[in-house]
Amino acid sequence: MQKQTLLYTGKAKSVYETDNPDYLILHFRNDASAFNGEKIAKLDRKGKVNNRFNSFIMGKLAEAGIKTHFEKQLSEDEVLVKRLTMIPVECVVRNYSAGGLMKRLGLEEGLALVPPTFELFYKDDKLGDPMLSESTAVALGYATQAQLDEMKALTYQVNEVLSKIFDEAGLMLVDFKLEFGLFKDGIVLGDEFSPDGCRLWDKETKKKLDKDRFRQGLGDVVEGYEEVARRIGVPLE
Ligand code: ADP
Ligand code: UDP
Repeated sequence: MQKQTLLYTGKAKSVYETDNPDYLILHFRNDASAFNGEKIAKLDRKGKVNNRFNSFIMGKLAEAGIKTHFEKQLSEDEVLVKRLTMIPVECVVRNYSAGGLMKRLGLEEGLALVPPTFELFYKDDKLGDPMLSESTAVALGYATQAQLDEMKALTYQVNEVLSKIFDEAGLMLVDFKLEFGLFKDGIVLGDEFSPDGCRLWDKETKKKLDKDRFRQGLGDVVEGYEEVARRIGVPLE
């Protein structure tokens, strides 16, 4: 599959067309960004680690019967994916309080959320990805109710599959974000799953091993990602 025109340069990945209109190539760059692009940096090895992490997780989700855009890891920092018409909402599941929820409701960090919560955010950098309700997403035509129902069920299913994998590695999956799109009218999981888009803590020490290391200036960001990767069995070489 040949890499062709650069379609889009995102905050962490670049998206290329290929010679087949049904497929794209995602290039995982070393760029890190937080607070809606206010804090940026280049982090050695991040692109490669996230690409391998994502390939591993997409494989586990496919094994669990979840349809994903993942086709093939092409190189250490590139992946071939189905070209989706992205649905502009981010689906967030939370198992413990952290980040935006904690701030919004004045909570302490790490409260167990039973049952896990499901939230939607409108994917729009200019607006800072505001939270929105399902009925707002439907009224504004971002997705149909049937699509939202399916995305919610899939996001909870992903939570069950991945919480178990991380738990067995002594890690807590605190929260995560997924993006879905349409491929030939069916809902498919797109984008990526990596420590850039989730929170992962060591079960015993509560050490943060995800993008909060970057957001909070804790240092050893990619080292944290690599520790998680090693613990769940992602091949890094
Ligand atoms: P952002 O857009 O938030 O800066 P990235 O740097 O990760 O994020 O850019 C990747 C872009 O590619 C995102 O806008 C994402 O929605 C989009 N994308 C991910 N997977 C696919 C896919 N399979 N088909 C089309 N677009 C995709
Ligand atoms: N998240 C993400 N991209 C976004 C917003 C959130 O990947 O644009 C992830 C984030 O890493 C966390 C989860 O979604 O794992 C919930 O994020 P939260 O709403 O707490 O946002 P934050 O305040 O951390 O940006």
